[in-house]
Amino acid sequence: MTSQATRNKLVLRLREKGISDKRVLQAIADVPRHLYVDEALSSRAYEDTALPIGLGQTISQPYIVALMTQELLKNGIPKKVLEVGTGSGYQAAVLAQLVSQVFSVERIEKLLREARRKFHRTAQRNIYTRHADGRLGWPTQAPFDAIILTAAGTELEEDLLDQLADGACLIAPLGDAISQRLVKYTRQADDFKREELCDVSFVPLLSGLS
Ligand code: SAH
Repeated sequence: MTSQATRNKLVLRLREKGISDKRVLQAIADVPRHLYVDEALSSRAYEDTALPIGLGQTISQPYIVALMTQELLKNGIPKKVLEVGTGSGYQAAVLAQLVSQVFSVERIEKLLREARRKFHRTAQRNIYTRHADGRLGWPTQAPFDAIILTAAGTELEEDLLDQLADGACLIAPLGDAISQRLVKYTRQADDFKREELCDVSFVPLLSGLS
């Protein structure tokens, strides 16, 4: 089967699981996930599972990527999105199909270098990356129309909430290694509406650079 055919099968599977936003399904159909995983695992790239990307990190499960992206688009298409945890670059590449600018921050330099190579290879022109501790956000680019964390902290970072534009939302896994919830905060002036979406399992949000 060609990678486009296996990718279409993945899209069908995500629809069955409840992803209904056509823009998100199209983005999943368009992004070559096999380029974002290790060559040795590329035959499994279109399974709906997280896979290791080295250094103890993982590329997120496609269903969770789709769910978080769908949630980000609910109040209209955000222009500027901040992602904390570039990892393989896959989530950033999916977002980049849908929004004007993706700013993505990664604390592990080696992973970031590999992700940048992939963005270059797939001619992504609207992804901007930075080797930094994403818990601090990207202050010089704030405010953002949406913020997405792809690593789980035990509590929410004030700096990130500060960098949300009015009406914008932040989606983050919150919890420890045993139990995490995907939580969505929507800014309403100086208030934040909190919703819990589902149980998830992400790698931990760590401090400092590596
Ligand atoms: N979005 C990624 C998911 C990668 S896993 C993808 O689609 O593949 C989460 C990533 O978050 C890891 O690469 C990890 O190194 C990174 N991370 C953890 N804590 C971080 C922090 N404080 N700042 C930036 N990145 C962080």
